[in-house]
Amino acid sequence: MKIALLSRNPKLYSTSRLVEAAIEKGHEVQVIDILKCYMNITSNKPGLHYDGDNLTGFDAVIPRIGASVTFYGTAVLRQFEMMGVYPINESVAITRSRDKLRSLQLLARKGIGLPITGFANSPDDIPDLIKMVGGAPLVIKLLEGTQGIGVVLAETKKAAESVIEAFMGLNANIMVQEYIKEAGGADIRCLVIGKKVVAAMKRQAQEGEFRSNLHRGGSASLVKITPEERKTAVRAASIMGLNVAGVDILRSENGPLVMEVNSSPGLRGIEEATGKDVAGMIIDEIQKNAKPHKTRTKGKG
Ligand code: ADP
Ligand code: MG
Repeated sequence: MKIALLSRNPKLYSTSRLVEAAIEKGHEVQVIDILKCYMNITSNKPGLHYDGDNLTGFDAVIPRIGASVTFYGTAVLRQFEMMGVYPINESVAITRSRDKLRSLQLLARKGIGLPITGFANSPDDIPDLIKMVGGAPLVIKLLEGTQGIGVVLAETKKAAESVIEAFMGLNANIMVQEYIKEAGGADIRCLVIGKKVVAAMKRQAQEGEFRSNLHRGGSASLVKITPEERKTAVRAASIMGLNVAGVDILRSENGPLVMEVNSSPGLRGIEEATGKDVAGMIIDEIQKNAKPHKTRTKGKG
């Protein structure tokens, strides 16, 4: 197969591991910087150009689109889809997963356990919003934040009010969420491929921090997950329409609560913590499914 790997930097661990795994399994792979792609969106002959060349002949595409380039990145991916190239994750599913509120609404509709979450537009509604999620302490999140940036723990009602007011004053979209204290600064990252959790790790926040993101100094270790956690992770990925996903779960008194579903999960932490060849399993999944014109949603939301 000829595989396109959409990534801005071939030196990143995840990118280089995917390239390595694809070559090992006998495929041809080209790393493509999405920002250097330009496209022709003509009806009958959609085309994609790169550095003066026509990009053709690809069987599959692996999107690794950074949060800061979601808009252009998904447009490029859509172009691949129009050309009949099989995407391991579809553009529509990636767009969904990048909006935390939209994701939670989709998951809630299907009965997935979530932390109680509120959203409001007007500062007048702040007191009721805080009450709705059970009062302080509570977590305030920017809708499009990532790697723990834009996630704040407000310990008191006063602190919560001022932080929410400040974000609203900046016209930032935020949601307000019940703080799951019993998770103890830890969460479980489940790496889902297809209909299976292929690897799972526990991430523990460093001392004095509640965010477990590895980018925020969290540490990863191997963890055994329960059947309920396994089922929740697989269902969450499937509801989002993602074939490859990192599903983050908080262990609460009321069972597993899904915090978010990532469409470009980092491979370093999970491969190092579990010793598993996750990149190889992603390539296997492509081998299993890649057929021309297999994008399921056909551009629908
Ligand atoms: P990001 O997309 O920036 O990673 P998350 O929603 O995943 O944002 O939050 C970052 C981290 O903060 C999580 O990994 C988790 O450790 C902690 N966290 C987030 N929401 C809650 C919550 N409601 N209760 C307890 N901890 C939380
Ligand atoms: Mg996260």
